[in-house]
Amino acid sequence: MMRESNHQWAQAVMPQYIESSRLNFYQHMATKGTAQEIPILFPHAFIKEAAARGLLGMVIPERYGGLGLIPIEQVTAFEPIPQVDAGGGLKILVQNTLGAYPIIKRGTDAQKEKYLPSMASGELLGCIGLSEPGIGSDLMSLRCRAEKVDGGWMINGEKIWITSAEAAGIMVLAARTGTQESRGEGISGFIIPLDHQSPQLDIHVIPKHGQHTSQFYTVAFKDYFVSDKEDPLLGDLNGGRELFRNTLTASRIWIATQGTGVALHAYEMAVHHANELEMYGRKLVDLPLMKRNLDHMKREIDIARHLVRRAAWAEQQEDAHAHVWASLAKVVAGELAFLASHDAELIYGATGYIMESEPGYIATDAEPIRIYEGAREVQVNLLLKYLTEEQLRLPWPRADHPVKPIEELPTADEVIATIESWEIKSRNAK
Ligand SMILES: Cc1cc2nc3c(=O)[nH]c(=O)nc-3n(C[C@H](O)[C@H](O)[C@H](O)COP(=O)(O)OP(=O)(O)OC[C@H]3O[C@@H](n4cnc5c(N)ncnc54)[C@H](O)[C@@H]3O)c2cc1C
Repeated sequence: MMRESNHQWAQAVMPQYIESSRLNFYQHMATKGTAQEIPILFPHAFIKEAAARGLLGMVIPERYGGLGLIPIEQVTAFEPIPQVDAGGGLKILVQNTLGAYPIIKRGTDAQKEKYLPSMASGELLGCIGLSEPGIGSDLMSLRCRAEKVDGGWMINGEKIWITSAEAAGIMVLAARTGTQESRGEGISGFIIPLDHQSPQLDIHVIPKHGQHTSQFYTVAFKDYFVSDKEDPLLGDLNGGRELFRNTLTASRIWIATQGTGVALHAYEMAVHHANELEMYGRKLVDLPLMKRNLDHMKREIDIARHLVRRAAWAEQQEDAHAHVWASLAKVVAGELAFLASHDAELIYGATGYIMESEPGYIATDAEPIRIYEGAREVQVNLLLKYLTEEQLRLPWPRADHPVKPIEELPTADEVIATIESWEIKSRNAK
């Protein structure tokens, strides 16, 4: 089960879910606020098909019923899914790297036994609660509190933008267990069973622009009690900073993979259209500036795909700088997905902007890849602690496009060779 077979599967099964989720979204918007309001639906049937294929347990070890793929295999197997649909890809990603991964890394044997088999089979969906209203990038200032009380934990606070919350049976929660001033030192991880019938839990969908096969929600906890019998603490008390940093490192590699998948989709569509359309007595693809545009895109995709694999390799080797490679892959692939998809839309001309054609959707779907799991500036800040600005510019997509002829730029292979020669170290280290 690798790239080609997942690509065929995604091409065969996903279009129906993409179409129905877009239709559902527009119906919701049309009826919003009326007595007949049509709710935004969670794609249970898609999740079931993905689970049957093992896609919800790619990171879960085989002994817990997962596929037990190593990071390089994970990115290879995952990429063809966002190459067909970014939203469906996000759903699968959340279950793997944000739901299961922190349990695999820091859960006790009992927690792993309790949750991982049903997560691998898709009976149990996970979500992650990091972001809060007004608190995204500055995660260490989060306010949601977990108080130790007799017999359990009391949770109070609001989480926002939580993918899959409506259907999730558990949330991997980042909550404050120390003082507000202690920032990262006072945050712990929890596995919180979500009792959707509880009046102490309030979950609401938030309509958004793209990725309609994936939905996100606000999740409010008001005196929400979790018994000690549920064994909710994940890892050490006040050990959340490290837990979530490692989780985001692993997950950013998948987000980067989502980005390269989306960029590949955009590129394939652009090449197809440029070969179909004729103008000035020639095919569009034969016009020099168009050829340059497509060549730039291909070059940048090759570089970004290498970075994804480099980051997966660093993760696999437990490299101390795996988080740097993950950030680099994430920011480059995120920018690329955005720019390549908007260029594909441009290459289609007005046709790219109409409701029946795909490029406009791909462009909209690509937008949040730059935002989630650490927006661009957050990544650049992190990377400049290890790389010079010149190094960071080297793989940056579209830096000289479309003015500079591609012949004047280093080739993808040359960029990759230079990157491979880098010795990553803290620039502040003496
Ligand atoms: C589709 C989608 C799904 C999501 N799913 C989840 C989920 O399942 N669980 C979850 O917890 N969260 C989720 N999120 C939230 C996501 O992780 C946050 O949106 C992200 O961390 C950014 O936070 P923010 O939106 O609050 O932006 P902000 O933190 O408000 O950032 C706004 C801007 O400020 C910039 N900025 C930040 N720091 C600096 C700096 N030091 N210098 C200069 N500029 C800076 C950022 O780059 C950004 O451009 C999701 C988001 C989206 C869009």
